[in-house]
Amino acid sequence: MSRPVYFDNNGTTALHPKVLQAMLPYLSEQQGNATSRHIYGRSARNAIDQAREQVADAVGAHTSQVIFTCGGTEADNLAITGVAGALGKGRIAISSIEHPAVSRPAEALRWQGWELDLIACNQHGQVEKSSFVAILENRPDIVSVMLANNETGVIQDVAALGELARQHKAYMHTDAVQALGKLDLNFTDLNVHAMSLSSHKINGPQGAGALILDKRIDIQPLLYGGGQERGLRSGSENIAAIVGFGTACHLLATEVRTHRNKLVGLREHLEHGLCQLGAIIFGAEAERLPNTSFFAFEGIDGETMVMALDKQGFAIASGSACSSDSKEPSHVLLAMGIPPDIARGAIRVSLGNDNELHEINAFLQTLERELARLRKLTAVAV
Ligand code: PLP
Repeated sequence: MSRPVYFDNNGTTALHPKVLQAMLPYLSEQQGNATSRHIYGRSARNAIDQAREQVADAVGAHTSQVIFTCGGTEADNLAITGVAGALGKGRIAISSIEHPAVSRPAEALRWQGWELDLIACNQHGQVEKSSFVAILENRPDIVSVMLANNETGVIQDVAALGELARQHKAYMHTDAVQALGKLDLNFTDLNVHAMSLSSHKINGPQGAGALILDKRIDIQPLLYGGGQERGLRSGSENIAAIVGFGTACHLLATEVRTHRNKLVGLREHLEHGLCQLGAIIFGAEAERLPNTSFFAFEGIDGETMVMALDKQGFAIASGSACSSDSKEPSHVLLAMGIPPDIARGAIRVSLGNDNELHEINAFLQTLERELARLRKLTAVAV
């Protein structure tokens, strides 16, 4: 039997062979702790320093701005909770379409007495500038708007929003976990004070990420201990994962641009076919990541379709992909004003560098078959 087709690259990506190669020595013979003074420790420290340069280079940051974390979730939590801890009490504003790694720490702050404002988005999944400006009038201390949404792929004009936030003297964070590798990123140009990254979305290993942070920002660590990462992330470093993350960032410069053009072509082909099958494509009018397509078919449940396609050899995600235990429709689609019964049908195809045209064609054929089958079942049930 051939391998199932993987269309869930916003969920995670396959490890690049060159990344694996770079990591292997740190999983086998080179076992030094980076805080040790001996040759093994120094070698581990050098490897981390090199990875720090590679991550900084990939996003136009300075090495002193890179704080390694165990992933995007920790980077988001540090960006929100760490800064809130240094401020004491205050006001936070986030967009209504944030990943739970941002929205949950913001809600936790509300339980602790912070004011929380939600910035609205429009039907295309773009943050409403009028809502953003109105909320800035409340003088938030912390503002967080993601660069690219994990479900719709819709890209926000973070540079413009960041500029407005700065004028209001707010600390601005962006979750760039989905944008890294798919867009050209420059930390300075984004006008933000902090930016979260994750390794496993760019063919690096799971378990590594970074917060890129303007050094002038006062921040408290989430973890206290040995004082690694300038005291902001104590704990012995996961050297192999950090080396893998650095290598994946390094590969972005040479390999990603060509893939981006290919992904746009594949996605257009896919969406042409989806439209012929009657799909509603979310965020289609907005600027989107090149690889992401989020869509639904009226009357078809998303989870049921995901399971049906899984059986047929296609790995895709449903609307609540990041909280797979939840049967609630996607909060992103609800924030866009999509009716809940349509939102419940949402499924996501997120392409990766290795996907090919024949896989899209096979997917469209299978989808057509499964749609007909599920519609027949629904008709019988009614
Ligand atoms: N932010 C966004 C937008 C994401 O899509 C994800 C993961 O899906 C995260 C944060 C969390 O990143 P990690 O899985 O590295 O913790």
